[in-house]
Amino acid sequence: RSKSQGRGAFRFFEAGMDQSLQARRSLEGDLRQALARGEFELFYQPIVAAGSLQVLGFEALLRWFHPGRGAVPPAEFIPVAEEIGLIHAIGDWVLRQACREAARWPDGCRVAVNLSAAQFRRGDLAGSVSAALAEAGLAPARLELEITESVFLDDSADNIALLHRLRGLGVAISLDDFGTGYSSLAYLNRFPFDKIKIDRSFIRDMAEDRHGLAIVRAVVSLGASLGIRTLAEGIETAEQLERLRQEGCSELQGYHLGRPMPAPRLPALLERGVARRLHDAA
Ligand code: C2E
Ligand code: MG
Ligand code: MG
Ligand code: MG
Repeated sequence: RSKSQGRGAFRFFEAGMDQSLQARRSLEGDLRQALARGEFELFYQPIVAAGSLQVLGFEALLRWFHPGRGAVPPAEFIPVAEEIGLIHAIGDWVLRQACREAARWPDGCRVAVNLSAAQFRRGDLAGSVSAALAEAGLAPARLELEITESVFLDDSADNIALLHRLRGLGVAISLDDFGTGYSSLAYLNRFPFDKIKIDRSFIRDMAEDRHGLAIVRAVVSLGASLGIRTLAEGIETAEQLERLRQEGCSELQGYHLGRPMPAPRLPALLERGVARRLHDAA
């Protein structure tokens, strides 16, 4: 009896494996079609100056709207795109689209684009970036590239050389999700970043435990002594906002200041400005 139960359980397990494999294959298939079918869209989240609360620019965040699946979060499909090598085509589309849309914004308003470490591994990233800028007629100073420390984990020397080439184009390089990796401090010594984005886990922890606040303070003061701007990510409350302004972060971002939104909603926001909006809300 126990034998047959065991066999049944085994078969069930196999069927389960089949299902998850099938689901994965189907996701891959849909992802391969997504670009051609125009299912991708960039949303933009405001980045504001800590002092004036003026909008300095927007971070481009990729959205995939699949007719059957609905909105698939980037955390689900970007790792798959990386594994199947599709991140190069998708990443190029993101760069071109972000530059094209940013070219319509007021002068000086910047756009931040996320790069995956896989984009450093193949192809001509510097070529893609300069082509996207040229095609859109966007000044390089208006583009920021966000990378995480995963870029340093493999082909480190090559990737650092590539970062210098990108910087040489006149774009800014930000270190995203700072503090979540294994040895973030070491990376600050290996490349002259323009900006450190303090991971939102530290912002979230600021209220409950004092370590969050201590870490934010340490990073802000580190940035100040290295001449690197610091941005606090994931600001969700008025308390966090006030605190981080006091702590001397240069830039702020989070749902409390503005959620990621589709491009058509930007002109209205740019006209009235985030500072006005917050003032009105108070
Ligand atoms: P990220 O670059 O660190 O982006 C910030 C993420 O935090 C975004 O999630 C954003 O919507 C979310 N966020 C912003 N403010 C708040 C807040 O106040 N509270 C909370 N809880 N979340 C907030 P999203 O859009 O789901 O993107 C997740 C990650 O996917 C990004 O993290 C980035 O690593 C990656 N990603 C997004 N777009 C692209 C892209 O075009 N290319 C690549 N390679 N990666 C991308
Ligand atoms: Mg980012
Ligand atoms: Mg981040
Ligand atoms: Mg992230």
